[in-house]
Amino acid sequence: MYNDRELHEECGVFGVFGVDNAASLTYYGLHSLQHRGQEGCGIVSVDNRRFHRVKGEGLVTEVFNEDNLRTLTGNMAIGHVRYSTAGGGGIDNVQPLMFMHSTGDFALAHNGNLVNSIQLKTFLEDRGSLFHSTSDSEVIAHLIKKEVDNRDRIFPILEALNMVEGAFALLIMTASKIYACRDKHGLRPLSIGRLNNGWVVSSETCAFEVIGAEFVRDVEPGEVVIIDVNGLQSVDYSKFKHYNMCSMEYIYFARPDSDIEGINVHSFRKETGRMLYEEAPADADIVVGVPDSSLSAAIGYSEASGIPYEMGLIKNKYVGRTFIQPSQELREKGVRMKLSPVRSIVDGKRIVLVDDSIVRGTTMRRIIKMLRQSGAKEIHVRIASPAMTHPCFYGVDTSTYDELICARIPDKEEVRKQLGADSLVWLSDEALHKAAGNRKELCVACFTGRYPTALYQSIHEVNKDKSKC
Ligand code: SF4
Repeated sequence: MYNDRELHEECGVFGVFGVDNAASLTYYGLHSLQHRGQEGCGIVSVDNRRFHRVKGEGLVTEVFNEDNLRTLTGNMAIGHVRYSTAGGGGIDNVQPLMFMHSTGDFALAHNGNLVNSIQLKTFLEDRGSLFHSTSDSEVIAHLIKKEVDNRDRIFPILEALNMVEGAFALLIMTASKIYACRDKHGLRPLSIGRLNNGWVVSSETCAFEVIGAEFVRDVEPGEVVIIDVNGLQSVDYSKFKHYNMCSMEYIYFARPDSDIEGINVHSFRKETGRMLYEEAPADADIVVGVPDSSLSAAIGYSEASGIPYEMGLIKNKYVGRTFIQPSQELREKGVRMKLSPVRSIVDGKRIVLVDDSIVRGTTMRRIIKMLRQSGAKEIHVRIASPAMTHPCFYGVDTSTYDELICARIPDKEEVRKQLGADSLVWLSDEALHKAAGNRKELCVACFTGRYPTALYQSIHEVNKDKSKC
């Protein structure tokens, strides 16, 4: 598959409790979260304690239709959109996962990656567990049902969450409740909203707007929110709590109209653009952002510098998700199909080209080449995040050290030369924290190598063993 942006989010989750046609609302919720995963999606609903599921590979609009949505009856549902690595695809890994068990059936939808899933899988297999998927989400399910006892479901859930390490925003749905859980490091977002007399839970708040729900609050790190006919109840599974939200959610993944832990994503990006100008001014005629996620930062740079913002690159939104490009020549054409320079705007201009991040560098190199072919005189690249030098273990597909251009080539001047830019500057780590309201805690591990959790397994093991989700 051709990666136009080189970086992929892993998943999005959405749930509805106590509202008629919960599955239809979940469909709209997932549609708003489609940017978080396009490989597969699914919805499980509960009606009269009976579970119904539809899932498939593809976009939300491809998997669901009026007929199959009609089979998802009931006033509670959870859904999932998924991105997978090459080895982690397949229908078995499409969520929500469903489990039939003597202690009661349940469905599970997970966003994030566990860092100790290999160890836990071995532990569980040694005790007789059989795994159906390669997703580490299944590990959580097996931990929840490993003890057969008559205690309330919350107890095995709390025990299971205490055994897993890593990133998760997790929805577990039983016949009468939804449990919304967030990892104790606070790496992945999860918010609760109110809709009529019921509740909705979403990876991002942008989905609330679409269905007319009102934001209530975020699920806290280390918290399990139990949603049932009695309303919301809160239980902490851990006293250890940190607010290490993934900074890439702000920088790249989340939709600009989402608010994450009280910070609007567009405003954050605009602020990084302003700071980028303060840290790295450039003498230029126009500011151009790489569509779509860099546009807010480009507007910020333009406002701070007084250099006009121009639509120098256009993204074709109607290109299919996948198409085969065996040769370099066809790959080059692939970029033009997805992203084209506007010759009449860039010709003869000195450009400040703002992008949110550089991962492998291949896309940036091609964009610079295209802009030069369209007559750009100078190209000053400004990146609205620090240089990415470390892989992510928490569910974001930032590949390995070898594939990250800034890990492979520590000399930034050499990176500039390889990309073909006239100048190239990244945002500082300090400015990133400032843009997020001066918050002290924020995961910036892919820029600094300071991971907020212990790492139990190497990135090679993570990629080899399981799908990302
Ligand atoms: S390492 Fe980077 S991509 Fe991964 S969670 Fe931390 S900030 Fe996000």
